[in-house]
Amino acid sequence: MTSQFVFDFQNRGSLGSDILGGKALGLAMMTQLGIPVPPGFVATTEVCGIYYREGRRLPDSFWAEFDVHLVQLVQLEGQSGKRVGGLDDPQLVSVRSGAPISMPGMMDTVLNVGLNDETVEALAVRTGDRRFALDSYRRLLQMYGQVVSGIDKTVFDHELDTVLLNSGVPTPIELSEEALEALITAFKGAFVDVTGEIFVQDPRDQIRNCLIAVFESWNGKRAETYRQMEGISGDLGTAASVVSMVYGNLGENSGTGVCFTRNPSTGEPGLFGEFLQSAQGEDVVSGERTPEPVSAMSDKFPAAYAELIEHAETLERYNRDMQDIEFTIERGKLFILQTRNGKRTAQAAVRVAVDLIEEGLLSKEEALMRVEPSDLSQLLSPQLPEDHGMDVVARGLNASPGAAVGFVVLDADTAESRAAKGEHVILVRPETSPDDIHGFIAAEGILTAKGGLTSHAAVVARGMGKPCITGCQALEVDLEPRVITIAGVQYSEGTLITIDGTSGSVIIGEPELTLVSGSAGAELDRLLEWADSIRRLKVLANADTPIDAENARRLGAEGIGLCRTEHMFFGVDRLPKMQAMILATNLEDREDALAELQPMQSEDFFGIFSEMGQDPVIIRLLDPPLHEFLPDRSEVDSPAVLRRIDELSEVNPMLGMRGCRLGLVYPEIYEMQVKAIADAAIETHASTGLWPKVQIMLPMVAFPSEMESIRANVERVLRDRSVPDVQIGMMIELPRTCVSIGDFAGSSDFFSFGTNDLTQTTLGFSRDDAENMFLGKYLEDGILEENPFETLDVAGVGGLIDFAVNALDYKAPDVSLSACGEHGGDPASIKFFHEVGLSYVSCSPFRIPIARLAAAQAAINSR
Ligand code: PEP
Ligand code: MG
Repeated sequence: MTSQFVFDFQNRGSLGSDILGGKALGLAMMTQLGIPVPPGFVATTEVCGIYYREGRRLPDSFWAEFDVHLVQLVQLEGQSGKRVGGLDDPQLVSVRSGAPISMPGMMDTVLNVGLNDETVEALAVRTGDRRFALDSYRRLLQMYGQVVSGIDKTVFDHELDTVLLNSGVPTPIELSEEALEALITAFKGAFVDVTGEIFVQDPRDQIRNCLIAVFESWNGKRAETYRQMEGISGDLGTAASVVSMVYGNLGENSGTGVCFTRNPSTGEPGLFGEFLQSAQGEDVVSGERTPEPVSAMSDKFPAAYAELIEHAETLERYNRDMQDIEFTIERGKLFILQTRNGKRTAQAAVRVAVDLIEEGLLSKEEALMRVEPSDLSQLLSPQLPEDHGMDVVARGLNASPGAAVGFVVLDADTAESRAAKGEHVILVRPETSPDDIHGFIAAEGILTAKGGLTSHAAVVARGMGKPCITGCQALEVDLEPRVITIAGVQYSEGTLITIDGTSGSVIIGEPELTLVSGSAGAELDRLLEWADSIRRLKVLANADTPIDAENARRLGAEGIGLCRTEHMFFGVDRLPKMQAMILATNLEDREDALAELQPMQSEDFFGIFSEMGQDPVIIRLLDPPLHEFLPDRSEVDSPAVLRRIDELSEVNPMLGMRGCRLGLVYPEIYEMQVKAIADAAIETHASTGLWPKVQIMLPMVAFPSEMESIRANVERVLRDRSVPDVQIGMMIELPRTCVSIGDFAGSSDFFSFGTNDLTQTTLGFSRDDAENMFLGKYLEDGILEENPFETLDVAGVGGLIDFAVNALDYKAPDVSLSACGEHGGDPASIKFFHEVGLSYVSCSPFRIPIARLAAAQAAINSR
């Protein structure tokens, strides 16, 4: 071999993590910063490639280079007597894997490599602590046995349990020298029993075998699965480090610990972590002994603690991020063993990003890129803490985040009446329908046995920002008698339960919920203000009521991009009138019913206009199939009504009498709606002196003639009532509309992609059927990587959007183009909408912060 394949930490040159792996790069970086790191060296990721190319062996030339560094390592220790396998002062090492990208699937570290039957006694003499030496040896046998020799962990656990039982002590730290000797004998016996070979005694061979094990672990099952999941290339390879041992298990003035440079839950500055006296390796995280908070080090190890604080600061400044640090104290002296960027909650991510800007470590753009937009939903609702300590009795789909506690109620009316008495309730249903809307309003959260992530329950709950679990298969809901059954156990209506829509867990009873503190709110506001100053895409809300509008505004919406007027017909006082309108068999009866609905609609519109001031409000005229409003057949006696219900039922309502088709068959419905809009606008003008910025939008338009005909009627009503400047536009929800969009340039003032329906009509998937029948399987088998109803199918649906945008650019360059399906609140889809040049996205109120941040990230990315 001609080039260099092994590097000492102090001589890494300008090599990066692609060659050295993340862990060794961190150690080399710390060495260069003068932070106390035990000396060591790394065999690069290229060696891993060579190992596989050479048929799972390493050439002699490599081992020659390796041995030179091993000798130098010993010299570096500056203790003349120390050498690998030496009997006066044996040099022990740890062997660690380290891929370019942090990979949990890689090999576990092996500590105390170099110990054997002889060196263990030398170590005992050298440290004056034979118990420590024996403890280190039994740890090596255990780790090497599992990691290198592939002996099952339970074999060692069993031997350990036996010795603990015989000794009558609960943890290994209390074992006597004799007991440890017995344990070592048992562990060595296990090697012979399981592998047929004795535990390797030559320290050099131990190190070499560990190194091979690191490279082997690169193609282990755990690592492969993880790479597949994260889309990491198998060509990267892993590096392997050999690091001089420091001992945290050398009695009371030694220890080991883990700390974060800031609180990973809240982001608060200041060291946060734990340590254990007289401990090594995984002891702190294994839960065998209870560690102490890191702050307690100020008493026990004052000098090391002061140093730790100083190094933590240095590492944060250097890496410009919160660090997760592992350290060991050997007889009072501090060593740092690892540093990496720390994992954190959304709340902490926001706080840290904002603080790092203020501390001058990050630019605003960098800080904005550090927060995952979809995590922000965690910040907007109460949370179930991870350590809630209660049994999860069932799991479903995490349809809408946040946790809620309440009494089980089995129908919307009960929800409403119990909530009216001030009780907190959870609406539990097999599935929900528009009839249940008052139950949604009354409930703290919603749990359904059926339905997917975009089922009615999921969409409505997300829109309202209420926690929701759907598709909870272990749940059965019986209305006769009124009980629910979860995994075979019956609970009556009125049982107190908790649902966690973030994880999909159902709990019987009431754990303590954490409410995100107000301070994260203030920091989130600042981060989002910066996002606003950077993004180009505007963010509007899908809001149907004055309350939605108020929420949307509070969360930063710049208007209402989609007001679905059908939601206004679902209230208990309105549905009967709506039904009367639909069931009417003549125009006169229908107009009577419409006349009763009109003032109610008008009142809603007035509320929304008042809330939104001079921001745009885009109202979509009635869209859903009529049968959604029909009464339940089982509740109807009259043969005439039954006949009418039959007349109105459709084989495939999704592709039936929807949207503007309804408006053309029953023009009086749209006419009533436009009158209601006009009256509300007039009333707003009368009370504020300003006309609301209202726009009217038509759904499901396929032909220019549909648009032209309805447009003429809408304009006539507006003209009759002298309401000025109302734009009339349309949704693009059909492939035909996309490919012929130029033909609509003359009749539509603006366009909004209804990506929910455009996805259904492009893929030929009916959303609810797809999610209930086959989408789960598709996602599981990797036929699809994402649910196309959550993340836009860029190649297909996106291709149609791209085509339409370009065609319109040519015909009507100034016309406003937007998207208002569920995708308007999805970060990956927002990136596409930004790139294709839309002017705004519209999404559920509770997704507004996500969309604001995602739009800023899209803008930063495309710079
Ligand atoms: C859409 O289809 O994307 C849309 C916004 O309309 P709806 O979801 O109400 O069908
Ligand atoms: Mg639609």
